[in-house]
Amino acid sequence: MTTRVFVGLGSNLAEPAEQLRSALQAMDGLEGTRLSEVSAFYASDSLLPGQPRYTNAVAALDTSLAPLPLLDALQSIETGQGRERKERWGPRTLDLDILLYGHQVLDMPRLKVPHYHMQARAFVLYPLAELVPADFCLPDGRSLAQLLAQCPFEGLERL
Ligand code: ATP
Ligand code: MG
Ligand code: MG
Repeated sequence: MTTRVFVGLGSNLAEPAEQLRSALQAMDGLEGTRLSEVSAFYASDSLLPGQPRYTNAVAALDTSLAPLPLLDALQSIETGQGRERKERWGPRTLDLDILLYGHQVLDMPRLKVPHYHMQARAFVLYPLAELVPADFCLPDGRSLAQLLAQCPFEGLERL
């Protein structure tokens, strides 16, 4: 049995679009996992000043990996692509965040799903909207349409 998972990808170092393409390929190669769909790539300014612009996208995976093994696998891909964890929210070659894991709500020390900042991030919500039906809702019942209405597209550039 597989679960539909949405992963948010981000990069602002070392050829961001290439980083995203490599990560998509790596995710498709994970055990029990198939890359089903990918949004367009989007560029936006960093939320913190003084960093290069980000490239972001959202991918839909169908996976038989349980949530924590999936997080381990995504963190291995980040590390394999040169991700260094120095300062929080610092520039990075690759960030892979689990946005949604089916309709599950997870509150574990290492993994909170839905991803706790996704509802306020245009670079997550707009690409996600490309991959789901118009009436899509989060596990808590909030509709994606409602979140989009509160999160201006302004500042995002569809590549
Ligand atoms: P943000 O979480 O605000 O997007 P970030 O992605 O830069 O920031 P990271 O350094 O990539 O943060 O991750 C910090 C920790 O967040 C990870 O070690 C991981 O255990 C934890 N984490 C909690 N929930 C999730 C999730 N849904 N997806 C990925 N990591 C998560
Ligand atoms: Mg992140
Ligand atoms: Mg992360």
